[in-house]
Amino acid sequence: MKILMVSSEAVPYAKTGGLADAVSALSISLAKLGHDVRIVIPRYYPIDRSSLTLLPDAMGTPMGGGIEEWSAVYTTNMPGADKKNPVKVYFIDHEIFFGRDGIYGSPVESDFIDNSRRYIFFCKAAFQLCRKIKWYPDVLHAHDWPAAVAPVYLKFAERVSGIKGEFENTISILTIHNLGYQGIYHKDNFDYAGLGWDVFYNAGFEDWSMLNMLKAGLYSADKINTVSPNYAEETKHEAHGFRLDGVLRYRSADYQGILNGIDDVVWNPEKDTYIPENYSVKNMEGKAKAKEALQKEFGLPMDSNVPVIGIVTRLTDQKGVGELFGPTYGSAWSICRDMDVQMVILGSGEHWCESEISSLASRLSNFKAKIGYSEKLSHLIEAGADFFLMPSRYEPCGLNQMYSLAYGTLPIVRSTGGLVDTVENFNEDTGEGTGFMFEQLNPSSIYNTVGWAVWAWYNRRDDITKMQKRGMTKDFTWESSALKYVEMYNDTFKALGIKVKA
Ligand code: ADP
Repeated sequence: MKILMVSSEAVPYAKTGGLADAVSALSISLAKLGHDVRIVIPRYYPIDRSSLTLLPDAMGTPMGGGIEEWSAVYTTNMPGADKKNPVKVYFIDHEIFFGRDGIYGSPVESDFIDNSRRYIFFCKAAFQLCRKIKWYPDVLHAHDWPAAVAPVYLKFAERVSGIKGEFENTISILTIHNLGYQGIYHKDNFDYAGLGWDVFYNAGFEDWSMLNMLKAGLYSADKINTVSPNYAEETKHEAHGFRLDGVLRYRSADYQGILNGIDDVVWNPEKDTYIPENYSVKNMEGKAKAKEALQKEFGLPMDSNVPVIGIVTRLTDQKGVGELFGPTYGSAWSICRDMDVQMVILGSGEHWCESEISSLASRLSNFKAKIGYSEKLSHLIEAGADFFLMPSRYEPCGLNQMYSLAYGTLPIVRSTGGLVDTVENFNEDTGEGTGFMFEQLNPSSIYNTVGWAVWAWYNRRDDITKMQKRGMTKDFTWESSALKYVEMYNDTFKALGIKVKA
């Protein structure tokens, strides 16, 4: 199959979260299965053009009100993909929209005022790119709100008035990586899409008189999915539906969850280049070395008996940071005050939270923090910690709990989203499970569940060791996820009566 991934992020070029990892890893795995996979992303300002190949001739993209002229298109092969069947990445270089620092915003403008135009243009440009390179995909696979208008163009423009031989046999898929971000802007921006106002209503853009890009994509894509089966179920209900639960119920016959995988080269204790010594389920010595290195790095006493609780996270409400670090009521303070533990955190995000964490670190000798983003430290925490805490408010899939399991670090998580699909709660009677779970998101649940894990550490060490080993042998590979995506593509062809040419 010819598959075009339309995404605003892809590692190693542009990343703000799990979306970037998922798009690249899925593409590489699909290519390994023999498919012709290409990715299109914007050429953001920090992406160095000197290592990319410039395609001849500038590209024009017809938008409402005129042609958006002079986009350059660059290309390269995705690192890490099979050399025999490379994944090509195309970059749309359009100065007025993407020639600035920041992907969706900057420190002074958290959400760029022209984001709807930037990404509506990007979606339309994806079609122009195919024309330019004369390559028409069987599958147009869009990711999250920035790419959600691509399925709308396919359904309401290309299929209705497109040129024969181009997109009439193309199917569209929209993957939700996070329903919390929908791309809601003033509807005045819609003229720029160059679609009639009937499409504004028929494609489902309309949202209380605003323009909702994700909603339109969810109505228009042939099939939709999200990144774990449990999150797919949760989002059909009001509590997790971010006001789109009705749309997802309406589309439920075409909506499913497919669990993300993890990169088993980068996130593998047997191959990890960031940790002091590699280790495996058969020989865990390297994990003890990683714990020592972690304690040293964070300036904690190097004591192997004390359990270390690690956290790596964006500091935003989604991750339960209010319940963890909220002044006067957050549970991190009482955990570190009352329990014989060490806690290390790596994160960046909301300003109040960063300063609260710094304040905690100055008051508690067993709580240490690094504010910022560090790939290396995140690996050291995953390898060196004994427990990994993730009290998420909601979690479409979550990567860190899977990394933790792979590294023999027991996750302590809230029962939500993909955390339910990946972690099994400890059963004190049988010793079964791979982690510790709680239902309600409040400081006392976090406190009590961490307390339970710490109790097990000191009193049920055999169970802890067995749980570590059980977690380390779980299969979270992208290969199995990629096969499920292929199945979804095939189901869509079948449903639409389209035969894919071999
Ligand atoms: P989300 O995409 O909602 O942030 P995920 O768990 O799906 O959550 O993915 C987060 C990814 O970002 C993981 O790879 C995690 O290790 C990484 N990450 C988050 N914050 C940091 C940080 N401060 N430093 C290094 N890596 C981080």
